[in-house]
Amino acid sequence: MSKLPNISTSIFTVMSKMAAQYNAINLSQGFPNFPVDERLTDIVAKLAKEIVHQYTPMSGYPSLLLKIAALINTSYGRTVQPETELLVTAGATQAIFTTITALVKNSDEVIILDPSYDCYEAPVLLCNANPVRVALNDDYTPNWEIIEKACTSKTKMIIINNPHNPTGKILTESDFESLEILLEKYPDIILLSDEVYEYITFEEKHISAHTRKKLLNRCVMVSSFGKSFHVTGWKIGYLAAPEYLMKEIKKVHQFLVFSVNSICQIAISEYLDIVSIVEIGKLYQEKRDYFRQLLKDSSFKLMPCEGTYFQVVSYVAISNENDVDFCKRLIVEHGVAAIPISTFYADGKDLKLIRFCFAKDNATLEEAAKRLCAI
Ligand code: PMP
Ligand code: GLN
Repeated sequence: MSKLPNISTSIFTVMSKMAAQYNAINLSQGFPNFPVDERLTDIVAKLAKEIVHQYTPMSGYPSLLLKIAALINTSYGRTVQPETELLVTAGATQAIFTTITALVKNSDEVIILDPSYDCYEAPVLLCNANPVRVALNDDYTPNWEIIEKACTSKTKMIIINNPHNPTGKILTESDFESLEILLEKYPDIILLSDEVYEYITFEEKHISAHTRKKLLNRCVMVSSFGKSFHVTGWKIGYLAAPEYLMKEIKKVHQFLVFSVNSICQIAISEYLDIVSIVEIGKLYQEKRDYFRQLLKDSSFKLMPCEGTYFQVVSYVAISNENDVDFCKRLIVEHGVAAIPISTFYADGKDLKLIRFCFAKDNATLEEAAKRLCAI
């Protein structure tokens, strides 16, 4: 008997596999295709010859914990205690899984905002808890009244994802004010803030949960160096949590992985001394603008993109097919892979929207756009 009867293979796996099978340009799963900074790969090559191949301490390589604390301080002016409030994880996925399984109990409710990234629901179900999916507004802003109506005495956690995958929406000052008012009424709810794209925002500045004094004592903030340093395959992420929550989170972490890849942790720690992480926003703003420019005369309608490296488009002027069928046909007939947005909704709502990843070199974006403009 399956413990997760309704969970199927991730759409990212399905679409990437199909893209490879048909030799299509893969703008589906989110990962960069351009080379990693040579300074970072040089550090890895150097480290591979040193004695850094054994376990790091359970919470993370000490110098990396210090650098993450410094990064959070520089970016957001928050002081976190590296030994007690930070944990290095195998990507944001493990940070999220570990947090949920450590803090959520049988029959608790966890509010997830639709459309939502795919890794939140399964750990909730494995806790025998109930995911409560609440729709965002049509413009992907949170509807705080509806979210509040969904809160009950059983609500243990609200998950926010900011900047938002897949829509690229970012939360505003007024969103945080509403969230704070709501949470004041429900003192037992924990906030899980997935901010893996925290450094990829464009016109508007990212507002991190780290900057919200009223939330800090009840918030677990998750990020990933996979996004910030173009190394999604390294699976190095981290979370920040107040000590009383971190104690519980570490109980699970030590038996899930104990510690994570030593060389990659040390490499990132050294790289953080020489790189400016905020530059990444500029790089992706250029990519976003270029990709939008390339698609401007196509039949696709471009949705706003405030952050992340994803561009959502409507194909309503092209086809009436459902978005999954459309994406499959896009691969087979036009050689470009995308992600259907219906898969981010619990009820599979089909709005004729698909998501392209623009974290690609310009030649790839140009060839993809050429094929898309010919449709
Ligand atoms: N959260 C969101 C919103 C994501 O898009 C992703 C994946 N890219 C993750 C979490 C997982 O990050 P990681 O690859 O570091 O596990
Ligand atoms: N976060 C990536 C995306 O949204 C997918 C990562 C994965 O495949 N697990 O495309």
